[in-house]
Parts: sequence; C-alpha cells; structure tokens
Amino acid sequence: MRHNKRSFYFNNHFMYDTIIVGAGFAGAVLAERLASQKQQRVLVIDKRRHTGGNCHDSYDGHGVLVHRYGPHLFHTSNRAVFQYLSQFTDWHHYEHSVLAYIDGQKVPVPFNLNTLSALFPASLAQSLENKLIGRYGYGTKVPILTLRAEDDPELKFLADFIYDKMFVNYTAKQWGCKPEDIAPEVTARVPVHISRDNRYFQDAYQALPKHGYSKLFDALLDHPAISVLLNTDYKQVLTIDFEREAMTAFGAPFNGNLIYTGPIDELFGYRLGSLPYRSLQFQFEHFNEAFFQEATTVNYPNNHDFTRITEFKRASGQKVDGTTILKEFPQDYDPQDSTRNIPYYPVFTDNNTALYRQYRALAESFGRLILVGRLAEYRYYDMDDIVERALQVFADEFA
Ligand code: FAD
Ligand code: UDP
Repeated sequence: MRHNKRSFYFNNHFMYDTIIVGAGFAGAVLAERLASQKQQRVLVIDKRRHTGGNCHDSYDGHGVLVHRYGPHLFHTSNRAVFQYLSQFTDWHHYEHSVLAYIDGQKVPVPFNLNTLSALFPASLAQSLENKLIGRYGYGTKVPILTLRAEDDPELKFLADFIYDKMFVNYTAKQWGCKPEDIAPEVTARVPVHISRDNRYFQDAYQALPKHGYSKLFDALLDHPAISVLLNTDYKQVLTIDFEREAMTAFGAPFNGNLIYTGPIDELFGYRLGSLPYRSLQFQFEHFNEAFFQEATTVNYPNNHDFTRITEFKRASGQKVDGTTILKEFPQDYDPQDSTRNIPYYPVFTDNNTALYRQYRALAESFGRLILVGRLAEYRYYDMDDIVERALQVFADEFA
C-alpha cells in the first residue's frame, strides 16, 4: 500500500479522483467509502509514519499493546457506526472504569452516589443523596457547572466540593484555565451521575478493536483503489490556490476533490492568525508486575503534573507478562517546537470559535474542498462522532 514519492511523482499524479489529507478516522472512513462504493481512486496523505491518526496503537518493547497518542476507548450509542466498523474488526468488549485520587482515596469518576458514600460520613452522604434524587431524579446526569448554579445550600456545598476536588485543578492542568472559562460542553462530558453506575460511559456499544486500532485502519484502507502516502506533509506534494480555486498535485493540475482533515489554520497559511490547541506529552513506563493500579485509568486532579495514568492491558484484556502505563502531561501547543507541536485538543472558547468560523468562511467558496475532522472542524469529536460525521459527509457530498 505504501509507495515512495518518486513513483507517485512520475506515474500516479493523474490518477486520483480524490486526495485526502490525514489518515485518521475522518480520512480513512471517507477513503474506504469512496473506493468501495463509488469506485473512486483515492490518495491518502499523512505526515506521520503510520495511519490511524491519534488512534494509532502498536506493541511496545515489552510486547504490550499501547495507544501511542493517549488512551482511546471506543464507545457509541450509534448502532450504524458500530455496525459499519464491525466490517473491519472483531471486538473485545470492555466498559471503561476510571477512579480519581481524592483526599487520599481512589473513588469512582464520574462523581456518582458511590463516590458520595466514599467521601462523606454516612449520614451526610445519605442526606445529600436524598437531596440530589429529590431535585433531579435517580438515573439523571448533571453537569458540574449546572450543579454549581443551584441555590439550595446543601446542593451548593456539594457542587463546590466536587468542583474543587475533581474539576478545578484537573481543568487547570488540561486546559490552562478554570472550568467556567472553557465551553460548558467540555466539563459536561463528565457530569455528576445521580446513580450507582460506576462506568465512565453508558453507551450501548463499548469495545476495543480486538487486534488493535492499527489493524482496523489496515482493513479500512485495504482496497486496490486506495493509495497511502505516509511521512509526507501535504504541502510537499499539493498546492492550493484558494483565489483561483486551483490545485496541483505532484506538479500537475489536479481537478478532483480535496478532503482535508488537518488543522484548518494551517491550510490557510495561518493568514487570520493561529487557532489555539492544547498539546500533550506522553510518558510510558513499564513494570514487571502483573498490574500497576486498580482501574484502567486513575485521574489525579490535585496531585502531580500529569492528569491521569492509564494501564493498557486492563482495557485490552491482553494476556502478557508485565504491564505498561501512560502518564499524560498537558502543555501549550507550539507548531515550532517539536516537543509540543501536535495539536491534540482544540481550545473551545468564544473567541477561538469565532476565529474558526472566519477560517471556515474562507473555505466555503471552494467547492472541491471538503473539511472534516477534529482539527479541520475545530470540534471535540470522539471516535464515534467522527465516523458518523465522515459517513454523513459521504452521504451528503458523494452518494
Ligand atoms: P486525527 O486522528 O487527528 O487525524 C488527522 C491526521 O491528519 C493525523 O494523522 C495527522 O498526522 C494528519 N495531518 C495533519 N496535518 C497534516 C499535514 N500537514 N500533512 C499531512 N497530514 C497531516 N475518542 C474516543 O472516542 N474515545 C477516547 O477514549 C478518546 N481518547 C482520546 C485521547 C486523546 C489524548 C486524544 C487527543 C483524543 C482522544 N479521542 C478519543 C478522540 C479521537 O482521537 C478523535 O476522535 C479522532 O482521532 C479524530 O479523527 P480525525 O481523523 O479527525 O483526526
Ligand atoms: N474533568 C475534570 N476532572 C476529571 C475528569 C474530567 O476536571 O476527573 C474535566 C476536564 O476539564 C476534562 C473534561 O472534564 O478536560 C473532559 O474529560 P474527558 O475525560 O472527557 O477528557 P478526554 O478523555 O477527552 O481528555
């Protein structure tokens, strides 16, 4: 599947109906659909040495399957997305569980009635539980910022406790700001659960690709009409003239479609300024022990510079001697600094969203350009969201 640039340059530049920048879920799903359903010839370009984008996984030196760009737990309530991906992988069913280290104890996250019982004396926990159930009903979920807006003194006391112990310092590490200074949807991803369900997600389908994400991507891209060019920044082989709506690929005019899944500000040469992102540094550690910790992920809101530790074999179910963990250290993004130049998370503030919209407007007039993906759309897409989005783009634009 992999070709060297020289043969692309001399032989293949007339061949493609669609060129896709980025071999993550957005790019790979669209490549698969276009090749298998529309008989299109597709070129996928990625600057990394592998496909899969941030979902890439591989075996470390100790034979443990690890997620190279942070823990990726697949979960969805979208049956169509699950069925679509099931064509390309078998699954290892796994429901994610997370603990947070708070006041010397490891307690369930999202904060729920079990967390309440673990952290408060029994009578106070019972009284707060009654209050929560009376106010919201059993089985509901309440974002922390909503709970904090309560007038009731007992609920307010609880909201402040959860905010202080679980959210404020974690968010400061992850985003460099307070929870209320970032879009409320971000902290609402981990709402307070008025239930005793300790699972991190409640989706109907929760699983990991049985043989890893990389094998899933190999299967998605395994089609004779799909070519993959890795280790290549698209700017090395493509030029885009937005004013004339003209493109060249490998030096020759390219009249097909461009699907772009990289950062939108980069696509426009940062002409309106840089969009902010958060980056991460990953520290993997191996131990010659069967297991390192009590749950797949333990969050450290108030201790250490990292946000969380993930132990992969607890999620993958891999039977292997020893165990490998990952610590995630959030950091500012800087495209010029190779230690912090991967834009993992768009930073969702009103100003940044406004700047994104200006970039988006620049792209609107160029009919052959399609923007899709976490970076191109500046959205907090989970894996299932981006698969759903790619399938929708295919239906809207190509079907
Ligand atoms: P990406 O995977 O980022 O792919 C974009 C690709 O474009 C990259 O491979 C990049 O190299 C390439 N590219 C960029 N610029 C260029 C260029 N100039 N030239 C060529 N190629 C370029 N989702 C979940 O559902 N569950 C999880 O548990 C989960 N955990 C996550 C943990 C972390 C730390 C992060 C960062 C994300 C997590 N996600 C999770 C989200 C998941 O990673 C995304 O939903 C998914 O990767 C989005 O796919 P994408 O194709 O839009 O982007
Ligand atoms: N969050 C927090 N404390 C936690 C877990 C999450 O403050 O123990 C906040 C934090 O702002 C984080 C957001 O909720 O960025 C979303 O958490 P999630 O686990 O969904 O983040 P991701 O896995 O996408 O990094």
